[in-house]
Amino acid sequence: MPEKVIPIRTERGDFTSPPWDGSPLKDTLGRQMRDLRISVTDRCNFRCVYCMPREVFDANYRFLPHGAILTFEEIARLARIFIGLGVQKIRLTGGEPLVRKDLAKLIALLAPLDADLTLTTNGSTLARHAGDLKRAGLARVTVSLDSLDDATFRAMNDADFPVAKVLDGITTAAAAGLAPVKINMVVKRGINDHQIVDMARHWRGSGHIVRFIEFMDVGSTNGWRMDDVVPSAEVIRRIGEQFPLEPVDPNYAGEVAERWRYRDGAGEIGAISSVTQAFCRSCNRMRLSTEGALYTCLFAQSGHDLKQLVRGGASDDEIRNRIAAVWRARGDRYSEIRTAETAKQRKIEMSYIGG
Ligand code: SAM
Ligand code: SF4
Ligand code: SF4
Repeated sequence: MPEKVIPIRTERGDFTSPPWDGSPLKDTLGRQMRDLRISVTDRCNFRCVYCMPREVFDANYRFLPHGAILTFEEIARLARIFIGLGVQKIRLTGGEPLVRKDLAKLIALLAPLDADLTLTTNGSTLARHAGDLKRAGLARVTVSLDSLDDATFRAMNDADFPVAKVLDGITTAAAAGLAPVKINMVVKRGINDHQIVDMARHWRGSGHIVRFIEFMDVGSTNGWRMDDVVPSAEVIRRIGEQFPLEPVDPNYAGEVAERWRYRDGAGEIGAISSVTQAFCRSCNRMRLSTEGALYTCLFAQSGHDLKQLVRGGASDDEIRNRIAAVWRARGDRYSEIRTAETAKQRKIEMSYIGG
């Protein structure tokens, strides 16, 4: 029986971190901080079986109270400090970011900053929000869509949510100018792997990019087993047998998705192989949780509290020094050292830390 409450340990920060001297910020493995993922809520209207299993995230689950989560102004202040430290790309995520009220107001605060601004969403309310998000300054969206088959999709989101509405969201987002849309499909063997080629076929020639993601052992409630993982190599082989593919160079060092294009010119797809081909060596991502804790790895077991600095009157310099100290001390490489045993460890839930 899974436990109901997931304990989250957050280490207390202090105001006395050594000063950052302005040199490029590198961790213990020489990796530079480039991407920031900001979780704006730990809540979601879906209960995807691989992320928020309903038997854990039920009516008794204690989500964060409103007062505990960072305000838009607090997030924007931290984002500015991160950009000063070298962050070039910000992705808003969650939980489902579009369940956070007035999210476009946060976009409007972040858009003028000097970073590429994107959002990952389940697409359920995207048709309604796309215009406002674009007008507020959002550059692009990534939409999660695990199947085109309605019954499979409803079973995977476990909220009986239809595919058609997500497709509508993607069309509306593209028409609003939030294109090209990236479409994330988490592949779980025996559940939706029969949809791999259909998904590729559907989006070929659309200008949008489907990314096939290996099912990961994030958190400790999704019952992950290696047998459920469909290796990206198999995904690429299955698609390539129908539509010949060739590899494409990464857009930049440290890009998470391995890129492939159709030989007939019908566009490209991506494969995210965090289980079978770990990419820790180039991992440049920092994560800021909904309640203002810093996580240096998706598979972290504890975070570093920034909120107490933000709410305790710390100056920008003090916060900057703290973030720099956390990054410099970082040595994470979980996916490289994953075993069946580590997969069972208590880890932060994906819906809390942000995907
Ligand atoms: N709710 C939004 C969504 O679903 O797009 C944003 C948050 S969600 C946690 C971010 C991404 O993580 C989604 O694309 C989701 O499919 C992916 N994800 C969640 N759990 C996963 C798992 N166990 N393995 C691989 N990807 C996962
Ligand atoms: Fe919600 Fe996204 Fe997790 Fe699905 S993957 S439960 S949509 S946060
Ligand atoms: Fe980065 Fe951690 Fe994922 Fe490795 S396991 S790529 S360090 S987030």
